[in-house]
Amino acid sequence: MTFKTIIEPFRVHSVEPLVMTTPEQRREAIGRAGNNLFSLRAEDVLIDFLTDSGTGAMSRDQWAAIQRGDESYAGSPSWFRFLESVQDLFPFEHVIPTHQGRAAEKILFTAIGGEGKIVPNNTHFDTTRANVEYTGARAVDLVIAEGRDPASRHPFKGNMDLDALESLLIEHGREAVPVVFMTITNNSGGGQPVSLENLRGVREVCDRYGIPFFLDACRFAENAWFIREREAGQGDRDVRDIVREVASLADGMTMSAKKDPLGNIGGWLAMNDDGLADECRTLLILTEGFPTYGGLAGRDLEALAQGLRESVQHDYLRYRIRSTAYLGDALTAAGVPVVQPIGGHAVYLDAGALLPHIDPLDYPGQALAIALYEAGGIRGCEIGSVMFGLQPDGSERPAAMELVRLAIPRRTYTQSHIDYVIEVAISVAERADQLRGYRITSEPRPLRHFTATFEQQTG
Ligand SMILES: *Cc1c(COP(=O)(O)O)cnc(C)c1O
Repeated sequence: MTFKTIIEPFRVHSVEPLVMTTPEQRREAIGRAGNNLFSLRAEDVLIDFLTDSGTGAMSRDQWAAIQRGDESYAGSPSWFRFLESVQDLFPFEHVIPTHQGRAAEKILFTAIGGEGKIVPNNTHFDTTRANVEYTGARAVDLVIAEGRDPASRHPFKGNMDLDALESLLIEHGREAVPVVFMTITNNSGGGQPVSLENLRGVREVCDRYGIPFFLDACRFAENAWFIREREAGQGDRDVRDIVREVASLADGMTMSAKKDPLGNIGGWLAMNDDGLADECRTLLILTEGFPTYGGLAGRDLEALAQGLRESVQHDYLRYRIRSTAYLGDALTAAGVPVVQPIGGHAVYLDAGALLPHIDPLDYPGQALAIALYEAGGIRGCEIGSVMFGLQPDGSERPAAMELVRLAIPRRTYTQSHIDYVIEVAISVAERADQLRGYRITSEPRPLRHFTATFEQQTG
């Protein structure tokens, strides 16, 4: 007999207390934070869905591995265990450890970016875009049309528009395009997966134009699970085989090990090109460290080596994807607009649809995120015109979608926490017409969303 409830495939081994607060205390806290959720003290948050980055719970076996951490400056056994674990899934010639994903991006785009260059991606993640643009290059998003439609139920909404990619290459020529990137899953586009077929298509286009193909592979395991679940002929495969096939289609990758690899810190850059690897290692030594530790301690490398092995276990991935869908399905059933189908690591509330009375440049996503915090102590993240509206020339333009991301930390919250979130979100949605927009009172650039301050509009 099989039962339909998919339970957490672990039990609790060590606990962290949550601090209960009242709505009055939360209103005061968000006011002190300039209405920016990034500026809150984490203790003032009850359920922290700001990000799934580095916020997961490590396993008993990861903590045990940490005890084996060898802190030799060069050639540590911890480095070799990390390398073996990475190359088991991503058999690239060169693996360059970094302290997190953006360090890998910074190094790669310093080497291959620059004025006049164009980098296509299905959708650039915010730090990826910032690192491309910082070199003077242009970051272009070419996700399929369904990927921009929050209501479309396409099974692989992260796919690249192959015709648009080819047009871009014809228009600008191969010299202008140092690399084609694919983000799996497509984080900024709703945590939506990319199909194996589409990845093969991108490979084929890149081959025809002689352009390297890189993966932003932060959520490779979740993406592989979706391929297994949704793509014809993949249902019987081991996730590790799917991951290896995905890797075999690319020439290199960037990784934030704070996502699927189940680490609290870490990342890497990997590639097959010897010359590029030499250049990247030189840059690595300038800012990160020696090539056998990057920005990481030996114990971090151990935690990641073990985390990578756990990240591709089927029981874990089945629970992971199901528990995210559980939140999204409950909100959908209650009539709260969320991006469909539910992504891997997060549920994206469609603030544009829920708050049509707030103009995109009055930041409906920010308004909804603050309302969720005030009502229930839930911290989400605006992914809309606050994050993407500011253009490199200083002008402002509405983002493609106005979303609030509820990112689910891995193995951290239980079903009763999620039931509470569902109750709070429904109560906020019921009085959506009372929410008001915000205006920005101070902002840095780029990446203004991390530290900007806001003021609620009157009236
Ligand atoms: C998190 C993330 C990054 C950046 O990684 P950090 O470790 O936060 O620097 C890059 N791309 C994607 C898709 C991400 O989710």
